[in-house]
Amino acid sequence: MGVKGIMGERCSGGNTFETIDPRNEEVIARIAEGNKDDFDLAVKAAREAFDNGPWPRLPPKERRRIMLKFADLVLEHVEEIAALDAMDAGKLFSDVKTREVPNVAEMLRYYAGAADKFHGTTLKMSREIQGYTSLEPIGVVGHIIPWNFPSQMFACKVAPALAAGCTMVVKPAEQTPLSALYYAYLSKQAGIPDGVINVVTGFGHTAGAAFSSHMDVNKISFTGSTEVGRLIMQAAATSNLKPVSLELGGKSPFIVFDYVDVDKVAPLAFAGAMYNKGEICVSGSCLFIQEGIYDKFVKKLEQIAKTWVVDKKQFARVLSYIEHGKREGATLLTGGNALDRKGYFIEPTIFIKVTDDMKIAKEEIFGPVLSVMKFKTVEEVIKRANCTKYGLAAGVMTNDLNIANTVSRSIRAGVIWINCYFAFDADCPYGGYKSSGFERDLGMEGLHKYLQVKSVATPIYNSPWL
Ligand code: NAD
Repeated sequence: MGVKGIMGERCSGGNTFETIDPRNEEVIARIAEGNKDDFDLAVKAAREAFDNGPWPRLPPKERRRIMLKFADLVLEHVEEIAALDAMDAGKLFSDVKTREVPNVAEMLRYYAGAADKFHGTTLKMSREIQGYTSLEPIGVVGHIIPWNFPSQMFACKVAPALAAGCTMVVKPAEQTPLSALYYAYLSKQAGIPDGVINVVTGFGHTAGAAFSSHMDVNKISFTGSTEVGRLIMQAAATSNLKPVSLELGGKSPFIVFDYVDVDKVAPLAFAGAMYNKGEICVSGSCLFIQEGIYDKFVKKLEQIAKTWVVDKKQFARVLSYIEHGKREGATLLTGGNALDRKGYFIEPTIFIKVTDDMKIAKEEIFGPVLSVMKFKTVEEVIKRANCTKYGLAAGVMTNDLNIANTVSRSIRAGVIWINCYFAFDADCPYGGYKSSGFERDLGMEGLHKYLQVKSVATPIYNSPWL
């Protein structure tokens, strides 16, 4: 393939890299390795489209019309996109086709609808002076996205920025660059002008780094690891002080209280940790179970684990966490091994008797590994669940409304799910506390981060200054 998409054109040339199917380790395509010059070119295209192009100047309802067309095209091509993500990210084709790509269309539609529904305010500043605020697009946005949900990550960044009237450069993860290029192609078919969405494929440490320190990018919207988030903030601080929004890693507690229905909650707890092979930032990978229900719950988890097979990239990293768990004295309930077959497959792994100070209880593993811990009281579990540097999400499973309210108010995390998990919606803001980042994707908060406020003041009559 060997392309990147700048100024509405497929560009190639220079070095390339392979993107592989993690299920069988086969090469799917060769992709252009964008370098600093390519980012310069892409930013220049986005700058020109922002400063002089039609997109920021269109009436919002016109942006809405084009974004709705883009959403329709995404649904028309759902099979092609699902095939790309399934191969590139090692996902189930049916999951991508029935959930992830339709979610892309949903996000485009949500933000298309929002395009003409954000407003400034009028200000009565004094008897002589009145003012107003207007919300203006922030400018050229750099989106840097990870590999675990290539389509949804693309849409939750690009759709609100489009609605705001921004232009942008997208850097997909080097592991999963294919669908972003396809979306860029569809956006052109939908009528989004050249230069508004530019996609540059390449590696983070070279191309991505040049991007976050670029003097002509007005905002970086990043989703990825906490370590890289820190580097991006540093680069932004030492270049043009561009604002950044960071959606980072997590280590989310999934808390189960006595008296819940084990047959219903145990499968949810298991899926909370293992869905998408555990490669999900809100994975409920720390399972706290109250003592009265502990034995029954663990037994049920063990049964469920035996019916699942999970595959995994970042193979060596996940296996090394499993070794740490064993060495630090946690007890392996199920799994713990790589599968003896082609592809990056690891058994779903559950450790019990995990203590709060173990590496597997503290660090984000981003793989199919669940750490189970026992607790006695509400106060105790709140304290222990908050004892993490992360604060992305938490699950609270209980029949007691008082417990649900107390725990949801006390956990320091951006998303709390009570008696459910992974309940996402385009209208529901999503993001972290603490080292899980700041600002939000989705909802109207996800749009406002691509806007800036301008205040305008003017005398009602006879300027006292003139
Ligand atoms: P990563 O941080 O390694 O990479 C993310 C992106 O950043 C990639 O496009 C990569 O090329 C780029 N990058 C790497 N180094 C860079 C640098 N120095 N400068 C600029 N860009 C650079 O993360 P990953 O392994 O792709 O994804 C997994 C991580 O993402 C996990 O920590 C997970 O929790 C997190 N994540 C968070 C959310 C959320 O919404 N909070 C969602 C999905 C994933």
